Amino acid sequence: MNIPMLDLKAEYALLKDEIEPAVIDALAACQYIGGPNVKAFEAEAAAYAGVKHAISCASGTDALLIALRAIGLGPGDEVITTPFTFVATASTVVMCGATPVFVDIDPRTFNLDLDQVAAAITPATRAIVPVHLFGQPVDLAPLKALCDKHGLKLIEDAAQSFGADLGPKCAGRKSGAYGDIGCTSFYPSKNLSAFGDGGLMITDNDQLAAEMRVLASHGSRVRYHHHVLGYNSRLDEIQAVILRVKLKRLDNFNARRIAIADSYNKELAGLVETPFADGHGRHVYHQYTILSDRRDVIQKVLGDSGIACAVYYPVPLHQQEMFAATHGKLRLPVTEKVAQRCLSLPISPMLKDEQIKRIAGAIRQALT
Ligand SMILES: *Cc1c(COP(=O)(O)O)cnc(C)c1O
Repeated sequence: MNIPMLDLKAEYALLKDEIEPAVIDALAACQYIGGPNVKAFEAEAAAYAGVKHAISCASGTDALLIALRAIGLGPGDEVITTPFTFVATASTVVMCGATPVFVDIDPRTFNLDLDQVAAAITPATRAIVPVHLFGQPVDLAPLKALCDKHGLKLIEDAAQSFGADLGPKCAGRKSGAYGDIGCTSFYPSKNLSAFGDGGLMITDNDQLAAEMRVLASHGSRVRYHHHVLGYNSRLDEIQAVILRVKLKRLDNFNARRIAIADSYNKELAGLVETPFADGHGRHVYHQYTILSDRRDVIQKVLGDSGIACAVYYPVPLHQQEMFAATHGKLRLPVTEKVAQRCLSLPISPMLKDEQIKRIAGAIRQALT
């Protein structure tokens, strides 16, 4: 039996008896836009994250775009972020007419290097966008202090970390709930996922919350009156039904991811560099990512054994063609090295113990 990166079929089998009747009820209720499940999901997500406001939208990308627009980001502004992330973290900065400033990452956590962030601040800097990469919380308390000192906004990209605890330095807040705005995605591979696209912005700030609602709804406060350029960005009623079922299981699913990572750590100790959890928050292992100089050999043996694996991310953002003109000459050695050595192994709440053993066995075979 092949082992996929993410076993959505097993998850569907587990949840279908609860999801299917709820979806059919929503179909029959015919309130497809802004319906009761969207409202209920927003309230439940806000309560879960411990924030005043949760505003749903069409994707994680839209969540970032709308958050950046809500803080007034525009031409001439700079946003400091990581080059080791999914493209949307930085493409949304460009969509606002602003410039992403990439700084290097910590070689162990793969998250933003705080010293480099501090060194990159200029009079044009407006915001910092940390990504809790692969589910590992960024050490946000010093980053927040830096933002406060320089009058910058802190926008968390929590697309890979929904449900992660930021740790005692952040008063145990959930990822996304500590910065000015937190953004997440419900893309099917994420820790909390829909059966399609979806996204969410969370905040305690009443004014930013109101502005984001306006931006997500055609820039309109009063229907058919449009005071800013907005978007049509909404979470679908049917996706909201599915997300309500899954939100109840998020903590259990994240706990299972952590247990899987512990098993992998034991099996793979001494063979590869296992993920480094720096301990100030709770890593929720959106990905389980190892480092090895012999990545190619591991990939080949896993492939031959019917086991999926993936390189997240093969090309750091500053080396992407879309940024060639603006960032082509930039060298970020830690990021570039990690991109050559990283490999993500199958992980999902449904991964079985015997599958972990088989995957680890194949890696052992590859390396010995
Ligand atoms: C998935 C992801 C996004 C974008 O979310 P979509 O819902 O796919 O638009 C943004 N940032 C990070 C770090 C992501 O992993």
